[in-house]
Amino acid sequence: MVDTVVVGAGSAGCVLASRLSEDAGREVLLLEAGGQDTRREIAIPAAFSKLFKSEVDWDYGTVPQEHLAGRSVYWPRGKVLGGSSSLNAMMAIPGSSLDWDSWAQLGAAGWAWRDAQPYLARAETTLEIEEQRDPNPLTLAFVEAAHAFGIHHCHLTPESLDGVRLTPVTERRGRRWSAADAYLRPALGRPNLTVETDAHVTRVLFEGGCAVGVEVVRGGRTETVRAGEVVLAGGAVNSPQLLLLSGVGPAEQLERHGIPLVHELRGVGAHLEDHLTGGILVSSTTGDSLYTAEKPLELLRWLLLRRGKLTSNVGEAAAFVRSRPDVPAPDVEILFAPVLFEEEGLAPPRGHGFTLGTVLLQPRSSGTVTLRSADPFDPPAIDPRYLSDPSDLDTLVRGIELARRLVAQEPLASLAGPELEPGDAPLDEFVRSRAQTLYHPVGTCRMGKDENAVVDPELRVRGLEGLRVVDASVMPHVPRGHTHLPTLAIAERAAELIRGRGAAASGAQPASVA
Ligand SMILES: Cc1cc2nc3c(=O)[nH]c(=O)nc-3n(C[C@H](O)[C@H](O)[C@H](O)COP(=O)(O)OP(=O)(O)OC[C@H]3O[C@@H](n4cnc5c(N)ncnc54)[C@H](O)[C@@H]3O)c2cc1C
Repeated sequence: MVDTVVVGAGSAGCVLASRLSEDAGREVLLLEAGGQDTRREIAIPAAFSKLFKSEVDWDYGTVPQEHLAGRSVYWPRGKVLGGSSSLNAMMAIPGSSLDWDSWAQLGAAGWAWRDAQPYLARAETTLEIEEQRDPNPLTLAFVEAAHAFGIHHCHLTPESLDGVRLTPVTERRGRRWSAADAYLRPALGRPNLTVETDAHVTRVLFEGGCAVGVEVVRGGRTETVRAGEVVLAGGAVNSPQLLLLSGVGPAEQLERHGIPLVHELRGVGAHLEDHLTGGILVSSTTGDSLYTAEKPLELLRWLLLRRGKLTSNVGEAAAFVRSRPDVPAPDVEILFAPVLFEEEGLAPPRGHGFTLGTVLLQPRSSGTVTLRSADPFDPPAIDPRYLSDPSDLDTLVRGIELARRLVAQEPLASLAGPELEPGDAPLDEFVRSRAQTLYHPVGTCRMGKDENAVVDPELRVRGLEGLRVVDASVMPHVPRGHTHLPTLAIAERAAELIRGRGAAASGAQPASVA
């Protein structure tokens, strides 16, 4: 019997394991379905897409998307120590302060920006976020072109999000610095923390209305672990799946799959939001893009000096802009990558060039994660219903038009060759045939106080005892930025709540800021 079992060693799970085991009297068990994070491509920032469809990737795909020409969109998610922070693009851009304030207004008491800010600051301090070591000349030209266009320099922080900047990164001296590096590894020596990899949790066990442990498959054997509290940190796809497999969710869905109902919660798996992005691909006249990042000399530079093209996180700069003057904060991000990011990152670039990815920051479309079967090893059905709200397509098209205008601006214009995509294709058709995820799913175990909320503002599953969800799935809406840092901030505060410190009252301060 342990005090706390944390399911999933991803961004949130690593924070929880580290912070909770600071209490020497608390026995913490961290269970991770994936393995150790030893692959070299995890450490090398520019290699992140080499991890796609490997053994460290859950390798999900959406159901065919009606408004994306019937395509299934590839959804990588980390299945390894560090979770998605071990294969993400390392961009440290947490969104807008308005995101947190709107969550609080929707019933997430205690999560307004002034309450959340100290926890985000704590996460940023723990990670020691870095500036790009060797930004590509194409990226510098993009930033200058944006300035020339009238987009001013900003910090890309929650209180200064309008503008353009080189992307701050979760790297340490040119190497990826995941949540496992920053949080878990320093805590591994503690006698009260046990971390198990290749341990796939298949359901939560209940007695009455109280979670008492989990069922886990380790080395092919099914075992049970008893715990005082169960914390799900499996991410926005797997946490709702695990709740459903455990009998917590919409009754008719559970009945369809023959799963005994433990507690009806209609919101489990609902309200899925994600960032959709459509990238324009432009060939370049310089021979200096990341196309040549794999040369042996670059590997040598990285190995010996932690410098050069392999330190690139690919998304090297970002401009946050408004598609209309009446929106309260940026609703479009233009992400610059000094490489042709082709076919969802699954195909090698065809030559030198760059990509401007237009990101729909505030989608109105939302979807679901539902069970395909009662088999815990069967991937769930992921249906983000991208572009089901027609205004999303309109915003994305406006963003792409703006991206094109930036390419036409000096000094970028002189380095640009022909536009490879969309070229002459109509922009709406281009979006439908090419748009992909920016990998930021949230909302499937949404926090709040209404009847469709899955967790309350202290992240306890509503109507049950001894069970919390702490990961990106609890966000009521997708933030206007990238989701890694907000997830860490949520987990920092959740750890305080579990330790009985972070009162939900507005204005709560962390006990200490590391
Ligand atoms: C390719 C990619 C690029 C991204 N780029 C960025 C970026 O540049 N900047 C940014 O801010 N965000 C980025 N993100 C998003 C960000 O990384 C995630 O939002 C964040 O890591 C989510 O954290 P989490 O704790 O919710 O889930 P995860 O980090 O995904 O962790 C979930 C963990 O739980 C484990 N798990 C799941 N089910 C079980 C089970 N049943 N039993 C045991 N273990 C289980 C998983 O294996 C995983 O380790 C990116 C994501 C991806 C995939």
